[in-house]
Amino acid sequence: MTIGWHFDNTYLKLSKTFREEIKPTPVHDPNLVILNEELAEDLKLDFSKIDNKDLAKLFSGNVLPNDTNTIAQAYAGHQFGHFTMLGDGRAVLLGEHLVNNTKRFDIQFKGSGRTSFSRSGDGRAVLGPMLREYIISEAIHALNIPTTRSLTVVSTGEKVVRENLLPGAILTRVASSHIRVGTFQYIAAKQNVNDLTTLLDYTVERHYPEIQSSKNKALDLLSLVMEKQCQLVINWMRVGFIHGVMNTDNMTLSGETIDYGPCAFIDHYDPKTVFSSIDKFGRYSFSNQPPITKWNLARLAECLIPLIDKNEDQAIKIATEIIDNFQNIYEIKWLNMMRDKLGLFGEDKDDLELINNLLNWMQSNQADYTNTFCYLMNISSIQDQIYEDKDFIDWSKNWEKRILINGGNKENSLELMKKNNPFVIPRNHKVEEALEAANNNDLKPIYDLLSILKKPYTKQVNIEKFQTPSKNQNYQTFCGT
Ligand code: AMP
Ligand code: MG
Repeated sequence: MTIGWHFDNTYLKLSKTFREEIKPTPVHDPNLVILNEELAEDLKLDFSKIDNKDLAKLFSGNVLPNDTNTIAQAYAGHQFGHFTMLGDGRAVLLGEHLVNNTKRFDIQFKGSGRTSFSRSGDGRAVLGPMLREYIISEAIHALNIPTTRSLTVVSTGEKVVRENLLPGAILTRVASSHIRVGTFQYIAAKQNVNDLTTLLDYTVERHYPEIQSSKNKALDLLSLVMEKQCQLVINWMRVGFIHGVMNTDNMTLSGETIDYGPCAFIDHYDPKTVFSSIDKFGRYSFSNQPPITKWNLARLAECLIPLIDKNEDQAIKIATEIIDNFQNIYEIKWLNMMRDKLGLFGEDKDDLELINNLLNWMQSNQADYTNTFCYLMNISSIQDQIYEDKDFIDWSKNWEKRILINGGNKENSLELMKKNNPFVIPRNHKVEEALEAANNNDLKPIYDLLSILKKPYTKQVNIEKFQTPSKNQNYQTFCGT
């Protein structure tokens, strides 16, 4: 039976400090819940000759493919500002799967049993949250935002103890790597410069080979990761995504979105929006995501200090200069992103004011973030009396005048807007509805939702119910599930 796995496990070759060798704990009665056939195809994996029962054995870890030496990876993290030694407490890495001998993907099971990093956790995951990660990560991918992907969800046939007994599941996650800011923090905390150099070299070789022979790899890595993470958070702000738990262990060096826990999309525009039940002080609120990105990057910079310059003061000085530049880079990128959302070409001195006026209007009138841009595109069926408001109409007149500046016209503006404004996002109530149905063994709502979320920038017919904002203004999400 040839599936097409090509494992080549370079992380395993790093010293023992980086990981624990551990097998997934077998589960009682694995059943395939969902398989991402498109992703399987991208990974050049062929499951067509395997029945679902065997697939479930494979993706629960009950039967492991050849050439895998499963490991749990060590990492640390600032969780809500507090430093903790963490690690994969409920995940194992099967290995790195090579596609066409060039592209390398981590294949990881999440919910696969206890490891030495589990602390008091049971090592398990619940079906609902794993399907939620599947839906949202695939939606983020379709929105053209870098992210880990979801290949399968398998139910385990075992109950997991949470607030009550819930069905257990294992998600197979695909990532360009699982190297986190927290990985650097873990190794830096061990104060072994050799291991730190190894991690730097490994990360550069895997993600940024263009700086392999640079004079100051650590500094160049910091700049490149900052660029990637800045672009990532800009993308989140573009589509109204709140990650919800931007701890340093949930920030990748590759610039992919990772660890979908209490994440959700905003409906009405309010920069202070927080969905996570435990984020009492709004540390990870919508508008706090950019400064938190900078804060996390500063933690990465601290780890790299010994490798930036032998003179610590000098190293701190140059690393600080890089981090201090985050705000400038972010503001320029953000302004350009908002110009794209509004179909504005080139620059005009009043652009910032025009954009802020719209955002302020949306906030005061509780206007839906996604639907307001759809309404402006004037090609969707969005209708809402809110847009008859005089202030909005006055604003629109200014905006229409601005469109014509710098050689712009309505037509090319619309083309630009269509690439940047999704018609659909995973609406919180639709996600919840689909998960509830899945809990009752009805997967149709998930498939329907996924198929619509696959084409967010394409006008689709009969999707109004997927565009309507949730009536629940106090939507809450939960992590640690
Ligand atoms: P997360 O909230 O998924 O980013 O996880 C934060 C840390 O808690 C990581 O080290 C996880 O491996 C660990 N963790 C989360 N849930 C569990 C669980 N059920 N059992 C063991 N460890 C867990
Ligand atoms: Mg995490």
